[in-house]
Amino acid sequence: MIQLIKGFKDILPEEITLWQQVETLARTIFEDFGYREIRLPILEKAELFARSIGDTTDIVEKEMYAFEDGKRGLVTLRPEATASVVRSYIQQRLYANDPIQKLYTIGPMFRKERPQKGRYRQFYQIDAEVFGIESPLMDAQMIFMLMTLFSRLNVSDITVLINSLGCPACRPRFKESLLSMLGSKKELLCENCNRRLSKNPLRVLDCKVPSCRDAVKDAPSISDFLCNGCESHFSEVKKTLKHLGVKYEIDKSLVRGLDYYTRTIFEIQTTALGAQNAVAGGGRYDGLVEALDGPSQPAIGFAIGFDRLCEILSQNSPISVKPVDVFFIATGDESKKVSFESICKLNVQGITADMDYGDRSLKSLMKRADKLNASFVVIADDEALKSGNVTLRNMNTKDQISIPAAGIAENIKSRIIR
Ligand code: ATP
Ligand code: MG
Repeated sequence: MIQLIKGFKDILPEEITLWQQVETLARTIFEDFGYREIRLPILEKAELFARSIGDTTDIVEKEMYAFEDGKRGLVTLRPEATASVVRSYIQQRLYANDPIQKLYTIGPMFRKERPQKGRYRQFYQIDAEVFGIESPLMDAQMIFMLMTLFSRLNVSDITVLINSLGCPACRPRFKESLLSMLGSKKELLCENCNRRLSKNPLRVLDCKVPSCRDAVKDAPSISDFLCNGCESHFSEVKKTLKHLGVKYEIDKSLVRGLDYYTRTIFEIQTTALGAQNAVAGGGRYDGLVEALDGPSQPAIGFAIGFDRLCEILSQNSPISVKPVDVFFIATGDESKKVSFESICKLNVQGITADMDYGDRSLKSLMKRADKLNASFVVIADDEALKSGNVTLRNMNTKDQISIPAAGIAENIKSRIIR
């Protein structure tokens, strides 16, 4: 038997109802907030991510599914969506029509991470990005929109963590201070961090290796280094979140795993998922559009871990099987023909109807109707059909009546309340 690759998974029909509900709700809320959908390719040039996420990050260093594709050079399955949205904003000149663009996209991402619960090599993200707005009101509104989705889904047990990473004006002073502090703890740092130290010491703050966590315990905090602009931007974000009734915690050690962030960054954590506690994350990236050869435009975005969100929700409510509206039990050739035609008519009108296509006993067909959780059962045999009637059984009340065979579909349709 050929099995799927470790770290990949099938999302089965029993689970999909939940995925669809989440997706529909996310679309509705995002569109109410003025976002429009964008669909992007899964394969992109690897350079796009090396230049945006950063070539000293875990994702780019070791997690990309990259391969040489002839003339196109090194291409990769996308590990995240932001860089692709930015590429499209620049390449398709979306800014020329209107620099302000509010976009969302939903789809699979790929990272060659160590597979475990809540961590897959193909996972899905619901991603939203806003271009052209520097105002801290937008930072707060994005978090507010995210929390609106979670609260409508009845996800409790979540914490909003925020921090500010400053900007190119104030971050260098912080880096310097961090570097001099880490310089004295080199022996505690893992091999990776030692290598990254000179290129990007902020990455050390994000390392999960216990000795590295120890080393950064007394690290300086970026918040003590923010310039006036960043300081007031961040305090506006916090003030607005308060006004909007969003509870948050400031996490001074939050840096997040991608290099492009500036100013506000945030992560939504939950206790419901064990070790994989981040269910969404995002932040501002005011320099990225320009760094990727686009116009100088501020931007901010977030991504929700779709798989993890569905895992939380499936713990809350057991997954239900969508019932079939009508099951036809047809025991003769003529009955099968009439039933089949009625089923097709009902299906076209948005009513789920089904029958058994083989030759099974009445008893086993009744069992099947139960299994499909049918609301109604039509029992048709050729004998009854000759007199122009079939039997309709309401599976909830167990009432049984005789109805005319002509116009079964119309008759049933009138009984199904949506
Ligand atoms: P983590 O700290 O869990 O590795 P991350 O910071 O790498 O998360 P982001 O790049 O911010 O994650 O992606 C946003 C969200 O996507 C995460 O909060 C998480 O819910 C989800 N996610 C990230 N990587 C995976 C994965 N390998 N499998 C499933 N979901 C993931
Ligand atoms: Mg990660």
